[in-house]
Amino acid sequence: MKNMKLTIFTRLIISYLAIILLIICLGVYAFLRLNQVNQIINYIILVDDATTSITSELKDYILTQLEFEEKFFVLKDQDFYMHFWKSENYFPNAIEKLKVIADTSYKRQLVNDAKNAYSLYLSLFRKEAKTSLLNIDSNEESYKIYKKKKENLIAAIDQNLKQLVKIVERDRWKKTREASKISIEVIKVTTATVVLAVVMIIFISVINTRSINRPILLLKEKTKEVAKGRYPTPLAIISPPEIGELTTAFNDMCERLKELDDLKIDFISHISHKLRTPLTAIQEASGMLLDGFFTDMPEKQHELFLIIKEECRRLIDEVNRILDLSRMEAKMMDYHFEVTEIIPIIRKNVLKLSPLAQKRGIEFKMSLINELPPANIDQERIIQVVEELLGNALKFTPERGTITISASTNEKGTIEISVMDTGYGIPEKELERVFEKFKRIEGGRAAERGTGLGLSIAKHIITVHGGQIWAESKPGKGSTFSFTLPV
Ligand code: ADP
Repeated sequence: MKNMKLTIFTRLIISYLAIILLIICLGVYAFLRLNQVNQIINYIILVDDATTSITSELKDYILTQLEFEEKFFVLKDQDFYMHFWKSENYFPNAIEKLKVIADTSYKRQLVNDAKNAYSLYLSLFRKEAKTSLLNIDSNEESYKIYKKKKENLIAAIDQNLKQLVKIVERDRWKKTREASKISIEVIKVTTATVVLAVVMIIFISVINTRSINRPILLLKEKTKEVAKGRYPTPLAIISPPEIGELTTAFNDMCERLKELDDLKIDFISHISHKLRTPLTAIQEASGMLLDGFFTDMPEKQHELFLIIKEECRRLIDEVNRILDLSRMEAKMMDYHFEVTEIIPIIRKNVLKLSPLAQKRGIEFKMSLINELPPANIDQERIIQVVEELLGNALKFTPERGTITISASTNEKGTIEISVMDTGYGIPEKELERVFEKFKRIEGGRAAERGTGLGLSIAKHIITVHGGQIWAESKPGKGSTFSFTLPV
């Protein structure tokens, strides 16, 4: 877990998820709180405002009734009596509505008291009106008592309704304050969250940009160094995995370039040595001939001419190999394909190298299948490959060793040719790389060293033929070089 590094993609996803989560939380919070404000406002409209308006209508209604009542007692006109009772149900209905929306027992108590006072007033009026109409015991005194009682009842109704309105208004004020408090809180939280989100975005962007930018800048610096031909020590950068991979690739590239540089230096010194040896021999031999040495010994002179010829051939061979490889790499090599039998090519090569093998006490064994199918090949180039493999086997096999050449068709129907020796072998980690140009294995026999081009050329040739070439080896026991050719 400690070494687990987050990729740039994961980092960005986590960062943006955190911000989105924050904004969602803010949204939910604001929604709930504003919903609360909405409920309070609705309550004010549906309960408090309704109570106030019903109460005021009730008061108007009673005033109208009082007017009719007074006119009736003054004029004794039945019409006013009828008008008094006309909307008899209005008051109880309105009182019922008030009771329904009354949300405390005290409010309900006030409404009930008003209702009772009103009922008493009605029955009082009914009785007084009847007496007045029938003129039974009608006198000033009883009317005065009635009026007194009525005024008390109306005052009680008025008092109750006023008290109700007062409480409702106090409630409304409280609720408005609460709604305002919530709104301010929502504004504060929203502002704080927006500021936090902005800070988070800036922080995350800075962190991400830095973690991406810094290693890239470092890589840029190091790349410039490489361009100048200096190879930096491997970079160890703490960075997201994507850039980590880039760094590893960069380090590998530096290592490889350095290796190639070293190989180039090594190759130049080696090749100069390789060319100087025959050139020195030619110079010495021709100098002797020019100085008139062995003028009386034609057979010695002939020997010197032979040396010059042989050294010239070696020089040309060496230069040709270098030219061949550069042409192959530039894909400018000409190949002349024709359908050819392989076995005779192998036999011819073995025959050619037999004297050298005999001289070193090395035995050639052949395990060839005679009825190999012919293949479409460039004969010269395939001879070059077989020669290279046999030559290497001879070079790297000590005296009294054995070299076995086998040719067969494998299960895929392609021709497979192998050269197996009982030589020094190749360490496993070098097996793949012996086919790289200039590659010569350190710790091999210095005297036997070549230019490190032979196997690289062989690989080019076999690849162009559509085949494969590979090596197997057991250090100290021997190596087997094999290649395939499609039929
Ligand atoms: P060179 O021309 O210098 O021999 P090659 O490309 O033919 O170069 O071979 C590259 C290296 O592979 C050699 O320097 C040698 O170390 C190793 N090598 C090739 N063939 C054999 C073999 N049969 N046994 C052991 N080592 C070999």
